[in-house]
Amino acid sequence: MKIFKRRDDLGPYLKALKKKGKSIGFVPTMGALHKGHISLIEACQAKCDTTVCSIFVNPTQFNDPKDLKKYPRPLEKDIEMLIEADCDILYLPEMEDIYPDGTVSKTAFKPGYIGKILEGASRKGHFEGVMQVVSILLDITRPDCLFLGQKDYQQFLILTELVKQMRFKTKVVRCPIVREENGLAMSSRNVRLSPTLRKKAGVIYQTLQSVAARMGSEKPERITKEAVRNINTHKGFRVDYFKLLNAKTMKPVKSFVKNKNYILITSVIVGGVRLLDNLLIGKQIK
Ligand code: AMP
Repeated sequence: MKIFKRRDDLGPYLKALKKKGKSIGFVPTMGALHKGHISLIEACQAKCDTTVCSIFVNPTQFNDPKDLKKYPRPLEKDIEMLIEADCDILYLPEMEDIYPDGTVSKTAFKPGYIGKILEGASRKGHFEGVMQVVSILLDITRPDCLFLGQKDYQQFLILTELVKQMRFKTKVVRCPIVREENGLAMSSRNVRLSPTLRKKAGVIYQTLQSVAARMGSEKPERITKEAVRNINTHKGFRVDYFKLLNAKTMKPVKSFVKNKNYILITSVIVGGVRLLDNLLIGKQIK
């Protein structure tokens, strides 16, 4: 695996590969890699000639400085995992390579309605920061395909829109959520959970599944409210939101109609750690 630290080295290298007719796939991450990230690398390898992964803990998408400070950074292990996965290229920039003028200048791209709800409402400026860093990374890598996880579904929709706004021909590929044995969605933040809470956190996915199974028989609002109460009964768990939304527009849904695309989406704070999960319901969205 080749490691690049500077955009001035990576950009021309990828350009030369493209000239030779090689397709480029890109997997942006913040490191602390797990099987979820590796599944994106594998999806990329299946579709593209060259797989580029980036590791950069982007400060502008953290609204809580404590969260940024506590974010895990096991770099050596990450590099080992990427070598093991046969990743071709790792882009590992320092802060100055991404933000040569400091982090003040925000991107011209605005997330719109989808960026203002759920995570956007609870973490002010988060999606602006995500768009800022990903627009820079896309500009450097100019990939044919961009691989994103469904776990961060709102982010997936916002970045799909960003690619459109940037007028890039990049195809955005949504990859399924990889889970721990108890159903908990894998996340770099899971290491911050106590063993007891980590075990108990399987309840989030179980609740998503049981709520999905009941949709159509009762009003969505009633079932989701019950789900919130159910999760909140567990010590150390606090639901931020648990909603049934239109999967494309993320607008609220009053009644459930079979064969339409919905997303059942939740964020739960478990022992002070923010966890995300969701379930797509209906026919698969392209
Ligand atoms: P992060 O390092 O958390 O910024 O995540 C980098 C990419 O990995 C994002 O596209 C995430 O959606 C994706 N990802 C994170 N966790 C999972 C998971 N459990 N399954 C699939 N993809 C994931």
